[in-house]
Amino acid sequence: MRTLIQGGWVVGFNRERRSHELWRDGVVVFEDDRIIHVGWRFDGDADKRIDASGRLVMPGLINTHLHLGSNAPHTFFLDHTKADYFGANFYAYSVPRRGAAESRANARADVEQLYGIWSAIRGGATTILDVGSRNATELVRVVGEVGARVYLGPAFKSYSYVFDEGGRIQLDDDPSSGEAGLQRALDFAKEHDGAHGGRVRCMLFPAQLDTCSVELLKATRKAADESGLRISLHAAMNLLEVQRMLREHQWTSLQLLHEIGFLKDDVMLGHCVFHARHSWTHYPYVDDLELLAASGASVAHAPYKYAKMGVMLESLARYRALGINVALGTDTFPQDLISEMRLAGLMCRFADGSFRVGEAHDVFDAATLGGAKALGRDDLGRLALGCCADIVIVDLRKVHFGAVRDPIKSLVEYGSGGDIDTVIVNGRTLIAGSSAVALDEARLLEQVQASGEQAWAGVADWRWNHASVDEIAPMSYPIA
Ligand SMILES: [Zn+2]
Repeated sequence: MRTLIQGGWVVGFNRERRSHELWRDGVVVFEDDRIIHVGWRFDGDADKRIDASGRLVMPGLINTHLHLGSNAPHTFFLDHTKADYFGANFYAYSVPRRGAAESRANARADVEQLYGIWSAIRGGATTILDVGSRNATELVRVVGEVGARVYLGPAFKSYSYVFDEGGRIQLDDDPSSGEAGLQRALDFAKEHDGAHGGRVRCMLFPAQLDTCSVELLKATRKAADESGLRISLHAAMNLLEVQRMLREHQWTSLQLLHEIGFLKDDVMLGHCVFHARHSWTHYPYVDDLELLAASGASVAHAPYKYAKMGVMLESLARYRALGINVALGTDTFPQDLISEMRLAGLMCRFADGSFRVGEAHDVFDAATLGGAKALGRDDLGRLALGCCADIVIVDLRKVHFGAVRDPIKSLVEYGSGGDIDTVIVNGRTLIAGSSAVALDEARLLEQVQASGEQAWAGVADWRWNHASVDEIAPMSYPIA
């Protein structure tokens, strides 16, 4: 089936310049799952026509770092309980006291995974990277149904975070994972990589730098070289981790990864904020970013998660100037990649003290071409002949956009996921006329609320000090 979209503004891709370009009153045509034309006009027939006048027709965004199945009920933790762990907010909502049940045991993983995918799609992403999937086999089925493009796979690690009775973070051996976990991830990839017409792709997810032994990291590197699977690893993501590496190895996080030969262009590092010259790290003995640039590894940058903790990447412009490929992700909540682009630009301006950096095209590139490069894909994140038919249409005829001269600046500076009119993944329409086509949204929200309430009721079961949800995350105002 052949569909013709008549814009509006069309963001096409110029292969010679390796850059996006804007087509006013442009046309995009796709047949089944591939784009067959981008340009001014199309003389062939079409089975279906979409009128996108007054709208922006752009490549689907690539969300390179989020955690499906853990965010919906845990949002409330993000602001209240994180400060005591040096910028490691996830400890507060995902780490149980030693011997207690898993902190997310009370939430419905299936509901939250579906919600996670759907909210990312609503936020403009057509490709999603789930960093270490829970119930990965079930997730493959969910992805098949809902119609997203998802990179996934089970996480593996050598150690698990636990809290002791004094509220101190500890790393306990995780005998059920380690190299056996890596082998399970390889077996999983053998079975599922390429499922659902290639919409499901597998990767290797050693969980975090400080939960993996050097031996496990080396084994992962070797497995990636042999299998061709790419790697995503949380690294240089909080100060505790960097200081632990310095203490144990006398290397910063990035130095360690460099020294053991882990960093290559198939590696995506989650966050990668605390390099040696970051103002919080304050370790002027090595230039981590030069090591990173030389390796070709990518960074998955999630600015809002850090902004909430008062932390900045220092800086997006600096990383890019060194030649480091930066992609964007949302990590925690919400999953709105359009808003995330705005914040990525703003935080860059704060970090550099300049309004001449963090421009709209920089962050749009990061959310499209940067993500595609990080995944080794030249058929994603761009609208060009032969690329995947992953297309997002944004309605620019809204009051908050005002007069639109440059649609990319309008989108980045003033837009949000709420402005999205249409989402197409692999040629299939998931959202049309701003309404969900692929699922029953009202029902999903009901299930998410129920799962959240179930999770909140069980907080004292796993929290190190047995505190209830009301104690650790008080309401903004008392309930009358
Ligand atoms: Zn993460």
